[in-house]
Amino acid sequence: MEILHVSAECYPVAKAGGLGDVAGALPLYLNQAGHSARLVMPMYRTKFLYTHQWEVAHKGYANLGNRWFEFTVIREADRSLGFDLYLLDINGLLDREKIYGYDDDTERFVAFQVAVLEWVNAWEQKPDLIHVHDHHTALIPFMAANCYKYAALRSLPTVLTIHNAEYQGWMGWDKSIYIPEWDTWHWGKLDWNNCINPLASGIKCASAVTTVSPNYLQELKYKSNGLEALFEYEKGKCTGILNGIDSHIWDPRTDPFVPYHYGVEDVEAGKAKNKMAMCDRFDLDFEKPLIAFIGRLVGEKGADLLPQAIAESFRYIGRRMSFIILGSGNAGVENALQRLTDQSNSDYNVYIGYDEGLSHQIYAGADFLLMPSRVEPCGLNQLYSMRYGTVPMVRRTGGLKDTVIDYGDENGYGICFEHAATGDICHAIWRAAELYRDKKKMLSIRKHMMQLDFDWKTSVKKYIELYKRVAAG
Ligand code: ADP
Repeated sequence: MEILHVSAECYPVAKAGGLGDVAGALPLYLNQAGHSARLVMPMYRTKFLYTHQWEVAHKGYANLGNRWFEFTVIREADRSLGFDLYLLDINGLLDREKIYGYDDDTERFVAFQVAVLEWVNAWEQKPDLIHVHDHHTALIPFMAANCYKYAALRSLPTVLTIHNAEYQGWMGWDKSIYIPEWDTWHWGKLDWNNCINPLASGIKCASAVTTVSPNYLQELKYKSNGLEALFEYEKGKCTGILNGIDSHIWDPRTDPFVPYHYGVEDVEAGKAKNKMAMCDRFDLDFEKPLIAFIGRLVGEKGADLLPQAIAESFRYIGRRMSFIILGSGNAGVENALQRLTDQSNSDYNVYIGYDEGLSHQIYAGADFLLMPSRVEPCGLNQLYSMRYGTVPMVRRTGGLKDTVIDYGDENGYGICFEHAATGDICHAIWRAAELYRDKKKMLSIRKHMMQLDFDWKTSVKKYIELYKRVAAG
């Protein structure tokens, strides 16, 4: 099959979170399974752009309301990602340093989607299916089916994957002029609670909808930032497919970011060396169990709970463990985490910012990875940590519930808790400190986790089955 992925992120070109990892891996594994998958994304000003060779694939023009714009689609000449990667440039709108966070993000992503459809409309041989990801590309199913100028795309099947339903791309009805002329009789396909809601529109109009874990799909029916009734109504076309991990990139035996490579056979010694390097760099006591947090410092991830949970665990459990935090986000949380360093006794440190290499080093060097998430559609961090022999400590929610079994249960290997609350986190920290004392148990858990299969190959089979069903109508 010929599949076109449309995404705002793709690792290693531009990544802000899990969406980037998935978009960088799924097309690759689809190609390896014998299909032809390509990906188009906005052309941001990233390092990848300047360090790779490009050739022009298409030039065109389109309108965003009454603003006329030219766009260019370029293709990476060496196919270094293992699939055809296209960047779409709209001068002045997309060629920025950051992916998101600009006042005109609505205009940027609607223009991107319009340009993608203009481009596909010009293809002689249309793809068999368009696969869009999250709200930034979720207007495509509506536009392909309802805009007069894309009549040739009307019957093209579309799949929407929801990586995160918290963000929906809401825009006022005054922005409806951005969408190329369409039959206004169908306004209900764009509307949710009196505004244009791209994610809701994608759920209504796509041929099939997937979420990045089965449990997340169940949760969305009762907690999805206002879309609960829609998920219940459209449940017939929704499927949960767990994300995989790219086990070539995330392999402690070869990971170029990791200073000391190791595998299952020498996990104890390998992790100890990486932990030592981590402890040297961040002034942490090597003897204590090292608990890490990696992620966006936002409420969704439960990051606001960390400062109090860490302070309380030092007070009530004692200074028996150390912590390393990597993340950025909410300024209040960043400050609170920074302030905690004043009280550190070689047992706490934080790095505010985004650092891909450091994240790999932490997965390799830490003993535990804490994820007290309020919302976690799939969660990749726990999968990476397990692959690196690091025990996940997770709140039972979304994909965390699908992927981590408590070590107290049969065949278990992680530490699970129910509530995103400091009490539950402190209890999990205490359990981690106790588990760490049992070296034999720790080692058998590490080895067990490293051999679990979360490879993309398994998930990709499910996507292919879905594509075939959708293409068959
Ligand atoms: P989300 O997409 O909701 O942020 P995921 O668990 O799906 O969460 O994916 C997070 C990805 O982003 C992982 O690859 C993680 O290692 C990475 N990541 C998050 N924050 C940082 C950071 N500050 N520095 C480096 N990598 C980060």
